[in-house]
Amino acid sequence: MDYKKLGFKCGIEAHQQLEGNKLFCNCPSIVHDKDPDIFFERKLMAVTGEMGKTDLAAKAEMKKNRINKYEACSSSSCLLEMDEEPPHSVNQNALETALEVAMLMNMKIVDEVEFMRKIVVDGSNVSGFQRTAIIGMDGYIDTSKGKVIIESLFLEEEAAQKIKEDGNSVSWRLDRLGVPLLEVQTDANIKDADHAKEVASKIGMILRSTGKVKRGIGTIRQDVNVSIKGHPRIEIKGFQELKILSEVVETEIKRQQKNMGEDPHVRKFNSDGTTEFMRPMPGGARMYPETDVPSIKITKSMIKAIKIPELISDRILKYEKEGINPDLAIGLVKNNIQLADYNYRIDKNFLAHVLIELPKEIKKRFGLDYKFQEKDFNFVLVAYEKKKITKEAIIDILTSIAKGEDINLKKYAPVDDSKIDGEIKEIVEKNKNLSVGGIMGIVMGKYRGKVDGNKISKLVNKYMN
Ligand SMILES: [Zn+2]
Repeated sequence: MDYKKLGFKCGIEAHQQLEGNKLFCNCPSIVHDKDPDIFFERKLMAVTGEMGKTDLAAKAEMKKNRINKYEACSSSSCLLEMDEEPPHSVNQNALETALEVAMLMNMKIVDEVEFMRKIVVDGSNVSGFQRTAIIGMDGYIDTSKGKVIIESLFLEEEAAQKIKEDGNSVSWRLDRLGVPLLEVQTDANIKDADHAKEVASKIGMILRSTGKVKRGIGTIRQDVNVSIKGHPRIEIKGFQELKILSEVVETEIKRQQKNMGEDPHVRKFNSDGTTEFMRPMPGGARMYPETDVPSIKITKSMIKAIKIPELISDRILKYEKEGINPDLAIGLVKNNIQLADYNYRIDKNFLAHVLIELPKEIKKRFGLDYKFQEKDFNFVLVAYEKKKITKEAIIDILTSIAKGEDINLKKYAPVDDSKIDGEIKEIVEKNKNLSVGGIMGIVMGKYRGKVDGNKISKLVNKYMN
């Protein structure tokens, strides 16, 4: 595709959920809670914007005359989510994370954070609006195809999650409502479909670099705006899979080429890679000030106090420069493990292998999804450094920790070389009818986790021949 000739314009809006607490109450940031114990219904009311205009999208929704059914868990929702209480003061941690992101994206930070009410018409906000505040603007990120302008960063409330549409009613879960959400908007100068994917993935990496974002499917979503010459802007919403972002953009270009007379609108992304009409593009009459939340001055000392996190990509590079192999380097950073926290006189790649690969292997082999703590690793690593256990014992001991078993380190004490030598000789002589494999089986059964398997194999072969 000749993107220049097409007059291709593309911008991305990324939405990232934050860990911790909700934005305006103390409910935890839980996206999928247990069984709901609160149920109520609301009908969408006509909301007229400040300028006296009713939003086009709102009108379209109201024509549907739907009932919204809400369910919530008291463990993750309070009166605020039910719109029966005014918002508490803004979550300071979320605000700080937003400031970190603004700095990482080279943005100008606002002098004062002022929350607005953005009209939301689909029932996904019980109140009929979403609280949102601009935190930064006019930033940029570096990409392989040049700087991409980051127009704005917003801190806002996540919406409720749709769980069912049933004739004239829509059901929503409120767990997610009010979870802090960062919205990053690029300008429309993304160069092509592959570039769109690169930009989205870079934005995701920067957001994750704060260490304060939620992880996993659905915790980051991209809306992609696409247009070609002679065609209005189309927004594709709810994108979660970065892998197919380029393909979806290409498919949208082809769709626009076939549908030149269209109005601007929002399309919904389907999991099979196609898109479908969702609603008209929301108009401008959709924001008004949130008077229940006092504005927050961003002072110089506040900015000074912010610690700008090191980018994930830089952290990986640093490990690679220290001689850590790339896969392990990525693993360390992904799991937020600092190798420097484990100060042992052992090979760094072996150390990284213990921290990253062994838990994975234990999960795979025994189905144990145990979250190893620093003290678990320290327990085995101290013993290994002091030569109280062998290399081979490390995985066995970690497995026992995962199983919650009592551990007797003496069981794993390395065996003296001359003793093994003698015993292997004896086993071989006693079992003359057995193959190498058979002998290995007996010896490994006896010494498993106590001596190096290669050493045993060599000795067995020595006495078998
Ligand atoms: Zn709450």
